[in-house]
Amino acid sequence: MPSPQHAKIKPAKLYINGEFVDASDGAAFETVNPATEEPITTVARASAKDADAAVAAAKTAFEKSKWATWPSARRAQLIHAIGDKILAHTMELAELESIDAGKPIRETSTIDVPMAADVFHYYAGLVRAVTGDTIPVSPKMLNFTLMEPVGVCAGITPWNFPILMAAWKIAPALAAGCTVVLKPAEATPLTACRLAELIHECGLPPGVVNIIPGKGSVAGQRLVEHPDVAKVSFTGSTEVGIRIMQDAAKTLKKVTLELGGKSPNVIFADSDVDTVVKMAQQAIYYNKGEVCTAGSRLLVEEKIYGEVVEKLGQRAAKMTHGDPLDPETRLGPQVSKQQMESILGFVESGKKEGAKLVAGGERAGNKGYFVKPTVFADVDPKAKIFQEEIFGPVVSAVSFKDFDDLIAKANNSIYGLASAVWTKDINKALSFAKAVKAGTCWINTYGLFDSAMPFGGYKMSGIGRDNGMAALEGYLQSKSVWVALG
Ligand code: NAD
Repeated sequence: MPSPQHAKIKPAKLYINGEFVDASDGAAFETVNPATEEPITTVARASAKDADAAVAAAKTAFEKSKWATWPSARRAQLIHAIGDKILAHTMELAELESIDAGKPIRETSTIDVPMAADVFHYYAGLVRAVTGDTIPVSPKMLNFTLMEPVGVCAGITPWNFPILMAAWKIAPALAAGCTVVLKPAEATPLTACRLAELIHECGLPPGVVNIIPGKGSVAGQRLVEHPDVAKVSFTGSTEVGIRIMQDAAKTLKKVTLELGGKSPNVIFADSDVDTVVKMAQQAIYYNKGEVCTAGSRLLVEEKIYGEVVEKLGQRAAKMTHGDPLDPETRLGPQVSKQQMESILGFVESGKKEGAKLVAGGERAGNKGYFVKPTVFADVDPKAKIFQEEIFGPVVSAVSFKDFDDLIAKANNSIYGLASAVWTKDINKALSFAKAVKAGTCWINTYGLFDSAMPFGGYKMSGIGRDNGMAALEGYLQSKSVWVALG
């Protein structure tokens, strides 16, 4: 018997060629509510054969459907309509996301779902901004470039922002005129499956969008290796990103990789301590720390280091967990048992490596995958908890002496996804922004995103960009045309 909370959630199917179908081998898996540990519903699990069918549908749609011949204004209207549909179903999608991923409803209803809608609205507007160039090579020639869609694209997404990541992968691909196969993460497939139904209602030709939940090592890998897929856009761990780049190389696909992070959140001594402590708390505990840009390395100028750590510890200790569907809840469960155990493993390693545990450091309760907000201080910058992505509510604090010491510590990471700096001194802020090796730098703020702002990583945090014109360009290729003038 499903619980009353889950009763209305029906089993989810694969969406291939405009139809909702079971997996060809009948396989299905359960998705679990991380707050209650109860199964929510079953979801069809795509096999490699199903991935092939989805790619074949996307290829036919790209080459032969109206999608390829419609004027761009019509394509823009449809992409805009998807954004409208998402907005019209905000609360339904937000509840589904909260149940499947443990994200507080106050976040899913005000951030995840509206932002996903905005991504479609933004790219609908960019459809007609795509232009080629004329290039003055010779008086006897007319030279110009055509910007053309790359073809069938695969989107592979993680579990921490399921509907938003689906939007990041689908919307720019459609705006470029590509067709798409999306494989959502195993742990959180439900909003992507519901999105398939909403997209279907918008009337896109069959095969333009296909959504196939399934295992990364089976359906995901097949998409990456498939010779008819022209581009893979992946968001997930650095480990899997490396594997995807290797597999995609065999057919020389274009790849966009949005990978892990270990972002430095830097506080200079001239900051207002209460404000920065509150923001440091948000930077690490938002979405229970399951954020690629989480401010997981807190670098504080020596003079106020003790005060910041003490106050952050006090705030962390006061945070309480709750039912993700309760509008008052700010802290939900980790996405899965495996994720909770991995986080607690990092906490043990932090203790063993001599870091000072200031707050948290254990599971909260014994039902649901809740972990107490954790603060470690005086962490050795070489320690595992300072170097590796934990992807949970654990922050490691370290002090710095001066600007050179700060930059050495901030850039002492294989990752380079995001960073932030807090100071009243614009010279320090901008000097940091120039010196830090990261794809984003927030100054006196944290964690802001916009569909128009390119987002992506330096170093092992990735290749390419999501959002903005930069993402759209990743789904286009230029053709140079030479016309000899008679
Ligand atoms: P993951 O790498 O385990 O899985 C991501 C996706 O890849 C899933 O859909 C999975 O099924 C699929 N996959 C796994 N193996 C595959 C293979 N061999 N071939 C093809 N697909 C495969 O990541 P996760 O645990 O779902 O998400 C957490 C990670 O995502 C963290 O490292 C986080 O930093 C990162 N992330 C990055 C960003 C960003 O924009 N940079 C945003 C969100 C999350």
